Amino acid sequence: MAVQSTHNVVVPLEQSTDQEGPYYALFNSLAGSIDVIDQSVLEGLGLLSPLREDVGEYLSRRGYLFASEEEERGQARLLYEEMLRFHRATVRQPIVVIPSYNCNLKCPYCWQRLHHLDSPVISREMVDHLFSVALPALIETSSPDRVALTVFGGEPLQEEPALQDRVVQILTLGKDAGFTNGIITNGVGLGKALPRIVGKVDVLQITFDGPPDVHRKRRPLPGGDSFAPLATAVSDALAAGIRVRARVNVDESNLEHLPELSDFARSLGWLDNPRMYFHLAPVKNHNPRHCAPSESELLLKVLDLADRDERMRAFDLSGFGGIKYFRGFQESGLFSLHRFFNCEAQINCWVLDLYGDLYACWDSAGLKHLAVGRFHPAVEIDPLALGRWRNRNALDIPACRQCAAAPHCGGGCQFIAYEHHGDHAAPACDSLLASYVQAIGRNTGWLLQRARAGDHAVGLVTRDGVVTAVNRLFGLLDESPELIDAISCS
Ligand code: SF4
Ligand code: SF4
Repeated sequence: MAVQSTHNVVVPLEQSTDQEGPYYALFNSLAGSIDVIDQSVLEGLGLLSPLREDVGEYLSRRGYLFASEEEERGQARLLYEEMLRFHRATVRQPIVVIPSYNCNLKCPYCWQRLHHLDSPVISREMVDHLFSVALPALIETSSPDRVALTVFGGEPLQEEPALQDRVVQILTLGKDAGFTNGIITNGVGLGKALPRIVGKVDVLQITFDGPPDVHRKRRPLPGGDSFAPLATAVSDALAAGIRVRARVNVDESNLEHLPELSDFARSLGWLDNPRMYFHLAPVKNHNPRHCAPSESELLLKVLDLADRDERMRAFDLSGFGGIKYFRGFQESGLFSLHRFFNCEAQINCWVLDLYGDLYACWDSAGLKHLAVGRFHPAVEIDPLALGRWRNRNALDIPACRQCAAAPHCGGGCQFIAYEHHGDHAAPACDSLLASYVQAIGRNTGWLLQRARAGDHAVGLVTRDGVVTAVNRLFGLLDESPELIDAISCS
C-alpha cells in the first residue's frame, strides 16, 4: 500500500469554500510540487478513504505518495548527491578573507563581540601566501569568475594604515586572479576608503538597522556617528558604479521603524537606483546567550507591517526563505531546488584569517576550536573537523528526518546548532516552514486561479478526478525559457 511522503504539507485555503470547497494546497518540498485538492482527496491522502485510481497515479507522479518510506528515502539521497554536484557546478565558490577581527562599532547583538573577538592586522606576507599557496589548493573551479572573494572582519574599512594597505592588496590580488570581489562593511570608513577601492570591488554588503537615530542606537560608534558617514558613502559608492547590497537586520525592536528607513532611502534616490538592493535579514540567534525570539513570530509581524504600510515594498523579504522560494515559484512554476543542505559551509566555503587558520563557516571564524585546518605555513586540513561541516545534511540528522521542510531547510544553520546544542548534528529550525505556510495562505486566490486554469504550475484534484494536471517538467519555463536565469538555488 502507498505511503504519504514525509514532506507533504497541507495548508487550508481560506475563503475557498464554494459549492465544491473547501480546498487545500498540497505542497511537497521534496518534489517541489503544489496542487489544490478538495476534502475527499485530503482524506484519501491520509488513507482515511480510497482514492480513485487516476488520482492515486497522479499524486504518486507528483511526489505526494510513495510505494514505501524506503523508496522515498532512497530517492531523497540520490537527489541530495545530485544537488551537491549541481550546486558546485553552478554557484560561485565563497572564499572569505579576514584581515582583522577588530571592529569599531559595538553592536549589542554581534556574536563576534560577545565572543570578544579582536586582533591585529594580517601581514603582507600572509596575504601573499594566501593567494600564491592556499587558494590554488582550495579553489575547486578552473573558472576564476566562479569565485566570490569577500573581505570580512571585524570591520575591514577602518582608518588604520596597515589594514587599508592589506585590504587593497587583497582586492588587487583578487582582481588579478579574475575573482568577483566583495566587502562586508559597516560603512563608517567607506567614504575615506572609496578612492582606494573603486575599480577593485564589485559589491559591498552594508548593514542598515533603521533610520538614522535607530541605526545609531543599535550600531553605536563610541564617540562618533555611525550613520551620517555611511549614508554619504553609499551614495558615492553607487555613483562610482559599485553595487550595494543593503542588509537590514530586523527584530521586534526596529521593525516598526523600517518604513522610515524606506522614506530615507527614497529621499536619496536609492530606491530608484538599480545598483542598490535592500533585503531584510532576521537577527539570528547567533550568540552564546541564545536570546533572539522565534523567527516565525517575527515573520508574522513583518508580513503584518508589509500589509499595513506600502513603504515596506522597498525591502526584499528573501531573508525569510519560504517567502523567497514561493515568489520564485509564482514567476517560474518551479520551486527552488530541494537540496537537504543549508549553506556553503556544507559544500565548499573557505574562510581564511590573519593567523593562517581555516574555517568552513563565516561565523565560526576566530573560534579556534572550530577551525578545520590551517593554510600557513602549509595547507593542512583536519578531515574530522571539516567533516562535521561538510557531511552534515538533513537526511542524517535524526530530528530532521520526519520534517516536511527538510529538503529545503537542510537542518538549518549548523553554527547555531553547535552554539545552542554543542553539536553540529543538531537541528536549527528557523522560519522556513512557517514562511511557506504564510506564502501559500496569502496567495489563495492566485493558487485557485492557476489550478482552475490548468496552466502547468498548479494542478486541481477533486472527487471528480484530476481536473487539471501539471504535466510539464519545467512548469511555466516551458513557455518562457528566458526566465531560467531568474531561478536561484541559494
Ligand atoms: S532544522 Fe528544523 S525545520 Fe529544518 S529540517 Fe530540521 S527539523 Fe525541519
Ligand atoms: S553554518 Fe550558519 S553561520 Fe555558518 S555559513 Fe552556514 S548559515 Fe552562515
